[in-house]
Amino acid sequence: MTTRADRCPGVFRTHEAADGRLARIRLTGGRIEAVALDALATAADDLGDGGVELTVRGNVQVRGLAPEVVEDFARRMEVAGLAAGAEHDRVRNVTVSPLSGRIGGRADLWGVAEELDRLLRGSDAARGLSGRFWFGLDDGRGDVVGRSTDVAIIAAGADEAELLVAGRRTARLVSLADAPSAMLGVAEDFLRRAEGHWRIGSADTAVVDAVFSGAAAHGRPGSAPPVDAGAIAGSAGSPRVGWMEQTDGRVLLGAVVPFGRLTAEQARYVAAVGAPVIVTPDREILLADLSETVAETVVRVLAPLGFDFDAGSPWTRYSACTGLPGCDRSRADVRADLAAHLDAGTATASRGREHWVGCERACGSPAGPHVLRIATEDGYHSAG
Ligand code: SF4
Repeated sequence: MTTRADRCPGVFRTHEAADGRLARIRLTGGRIEAVALDALATAADDLGDGGVELTVRGNVQVRGLAPEVVEDFARRMEVAGLAAGAEHDRVRNVTVSPLSGRIGGRADLWGVAEELDRLLRGSDAARGLSGRFWFGLDDGRGDVVGRSTDVAIIAAGADEAELLVAGRRTARLVSLADAPSAMLGVAEDFLRRAEGHWRIGSADTAVVDAVFSGAAAHGRPGSAPPVDAGAIAGSAGSPRVGWMEQTDGRVLLGAVVPFGRLTAEQARYVAAVGAPVIVTPDREILLADLSETVAETVVRVLAPLGFDFDAGSPWTRYSACTGLPGCDRSRADVRADLAAHLDAGTATASRGREHWVGCERACGSPAGPHVLRIATEDGYHSAG
């Protein structure tokens, strides 16, 4: 049974790191409106270390907050619509297939995500969920269901989806209209049985089996078609980076930045486009619903500011944990070491994903297959 306190940070309950307080802001499906992004950038500049970090759940976080400004930061996030009140703030972990409704997939899941978020905010019971509990909405392409979610759906068609519990398919189909309440119902059922566990997958087998059986009370028998196991890195196993044409003819631009960290200035420039912004769980930044003319201008303005629109960019394959000086567990300044590695031209196009870390905790590891490079007393060792 888990007895440790859940210290997963949020806006109101921050994490004390070596470089100050860290606040994590939950974005439903990674989506953030331009006005909110601008407010976030200003708060990061005024109160944090001036950066906005993208996380592997499609959330964002700000580091370097002094204890005396945490309250001001939280208030600004509430005003910007980026926090749901102290009791529900950390439980709104909802990941959506980032391209849903715009490119490919079997269904548009943004309405489902909004309704799930609304139900979560209104549920007294949901306040008891851990900040690590994770809801996933996969539009059928398979880029969410492989990510260790607790409760997920995968679209079977435009109106129905199969429920999953801790990654296990239930062979039960629910309508998309019923999916949010069914997912919340599974989470609340887990809470009644959780006995201190934070995640369904880490609970005792009997608990997992009971929650799984409970999920079978929803919907009707049926399964979503199989998915491509390699889809986790993007729409077709490739990064969502570059110029992409949406189903409606408009343009979606995907970009990466070094270490998945935006400066406040970069974030403000993204906000200035005025388009819907989606942060993906692969730390990409998507700008959606652009006309061709606007998209051309965006690339021309953002590329010189450090945004990489090339799907072959090393930043689609290389990532790193915080390391020194931000994390005092670290054995190395991991980001400086990775930057030097890339500057030396050691990265090659033929190799897969690498995640560099300062200790065995391996924070921020990507979901798909990857090699871990772990700092040790005598250099970096590979694992995985
Ligand atoms: S992997 Fe280790 S060194 Fe890196 S951020 Fe996590 S705890 Fe710190």
